[in-house]
Amino acid sequence: MPAPKTSLIGLDAGAMAAALIAAGFAEKSAKMRVRQLWNWIYVHGARDFAVMTNLAKDFRSEMDAHFTLDRPEIVTEQVSSDGTRKWLLRTGPGIEFETVYIPEAERGTLCVSSQVGCTLNCTFCHTGTQRLVRNLTSSEIVAQVLVARDRLGDFPGGIAPTDGLVPSGEGTRAVSNIVFMGMGEPLYNLDNVSAAIGVLTDGDGLSLSKRRITVSTSGVTPEMARLGEECGTMLAVSLHATNNALRDKLVPLNKKYPIEELLKTCRNYPGASNARRITFEYVMLKGMNDSPAEARALVRLLQGLPAKINLIPFNPWPGSPYECSDWDAIERFSEIVFNAGYASPVRTPRGRDIQAACGQLKSETEKLRARARLMLEESLVVALD
Ligand code: SF4
Repeated sequence: MPAPKTSLIGLDAGAMAAALIAAGFAEKSAKMRVRQLWNWIYVHGARDFAVMTNLAKDFRSEMDAHFTLDRPEIVTEQVSSDGTRKWLLRTGPGIEFETVYIPEAERGTLCVSSQVGCTLNCTFCHTGTQRLVRNLTSSEIVAQVLVARDRLGDFPGGIAPTDGLVPSGEGTRAVSNIVFMGMGEPLYNLDNVSAAIGVLTDGDGLSLSKRRITVSTSGVTPEMARLGEECGTMLAVSLHATNNALRDKLVPLNKKYPIEELLKTCRNYPGASNARRITFEYVMLKGMNDSPAEARALVRLLQGLPAKINLIPFNPWPGSPYECSDWDAIERFSEIVFNAGYASPVRTPRGRDIQAACGQLKSETEKLRARARLMLEESLVVALD
């Protein structure tokens, strides 16, 4: 069996040069080669060394012998009637993760996963019901962006799909914003998340602005300062409750890092300011956290913090223990927060028809597979009879 090829996707420039040298390429030209490869991979979206026509043919075939630019396999792709797209991707047996694309008039946001499954068991979250398989590598994180750009025609010469809404117009990128809000807790995989952000924001490649990348955490306070210092991205915090008793239930990590400690860490988040506000996510759960008293408590809690509040109508999944708040309750809540001076957009639920909340596609596919297996076993039994 030939050794598996190393993926160049997601390696930073230094690691890519080291990989080239380790494969036997001349050390003195490695830097220049990396620059050329980088341009092909991230500016042109090359998926194959053969298309890199300004590189010598021999070099290209040598590269092909050692390295790969393969994308993850797309297991399923679903397009919602509102243009939201959801992909289930696979990079190996049992290594499946989701990426969701949410188009709006002037921007396109890609929600990426950082882990396969999650250890944190937030009770309103479907991924929380799936055991952690492993952290995603920086290659697998960056590849989610490349897959999305491939599918959305976001590389030069690419063709945008016509079956859903994709932002258009001169200079508009289909993928303009990235949020780490897919499967997993990004701060439990900060080495790979940080490396991936370094690649995504590199000015000679994908060149995404750090201000257009948001990393969401359920409150892993010991890693938050490092995220701010090393990555300089925007921060989002899954808050969802205004007292520890309820947050312990919704986000069990709260027992380890309670609200007071979380907010203290937020107050010290590097770079937080009125121009770079921290987003607090608050999922609206009927009868749980949606009363006017809780809206007022939220305002008190965030006093003095440069904050934005995202109210998220709960997107129920089969077997979920909660219901979405009534629209009246959401409006009342939003008004109290808004009158206190906080931007409090209510996030329109997107992709409900394709179960776009994280973790849902993976387990639906698993269910389908289990059903297929069962049918297969049944037919085998019949055959053996
Ligand atoms: S909300 Fe995030 S941290 Fe919590 S279980 Fe879901 S994926 Fe994990």
